[in-house]
Amino acid sequence: MHLIDTHTHLYLSSFKNDIDKVIARAVDNGVTKMFLPNIDSGTINSMNKIADDYTEYCFPMIGLHPTSVNGDFEKELRIIESEVSSGKYIAVGETGIDLYHDKTYLKEQLKAFERQIRFALEFNLPVIIHARDSFNELFETLKKYKNSGLKGVFHAFTGTVSQADYIINELNFMLGIGGIVTFKNSGLDRVVKEIDLSHIVLETDSPFLAPVPRRGKRNESSYLVFIAEKISQIMNINQDEVAEITTNNAYSIFGK
Ligand SMILES: [Zn+2]
Repeated sequence: MHLIDTHTHLYLSSFKNDIDKVIARAVDNGVTKMFLPNIDSGTINSMNKIADDYTEYCFPMIGLHPTSVNGDFEKELRIIESEVSSGKYIAVGETGIDLYHDKTYLKEQLKAFERQIRFALEFNLPVIIHARDSFNELFETLKKYKNSGLKGVFHAFTGTVSQADYIINELNFMLGIGGIVTFKNSGLDRVVKEIDLSHIVLETDSPFLAPVPRRGKRNESSYLVFIAEKISQIMNINQDEVAEITTNNAYSIFGK
């Protein structure tokens, strides 16, 4: 069984003492590829260090996270732009809109998001979207690019069935499903049940959002197996099938 963790922040300080073991546990559990989303200019070096130390397993992305967008975002975007043109990144991300934490920089977030969409198109990369209280704003921007060939993932998807349908059918994006699907009362299991597995990729979002039975602990990529197991229960198929389909989905978005 081979699984891909399409969203894992293994370069953050919570892993600095045992990253070797964290990666070994992931690989032992069949999680043989881990995709690293960037946050802002302050995380590029530590992320690339992990990608360089574990070239077989870890692959970096480049982007500016919406909660890192402020008055200085133009400067940040220039750094992202020069990085993306280096050709060593597998995706633009994470980007998107976050109106849950702070609405102060909505205008700037929208500008930064759209500029990163253009980077993705220019370099033919998928775009990884962080959505928090912002589906309307995201859809408004993304529908302008409907026929542009833009593709990507709505990471940590927690929306409704109709939002999922719009993302899949109108925008041609996939849904990133993580630990929230294992949470009692999240309701995400009922939404996921309505979605064809051909539109889903798996992710942990480590070190955040650890799935049951590790809920509340530091999350790590090996816990992706709990998410695959939950999806296999929801869809009533075996776990190997979940692994095979979601791994192929990830390759179809990110390339081999
Ligand atoms: Zn993330």
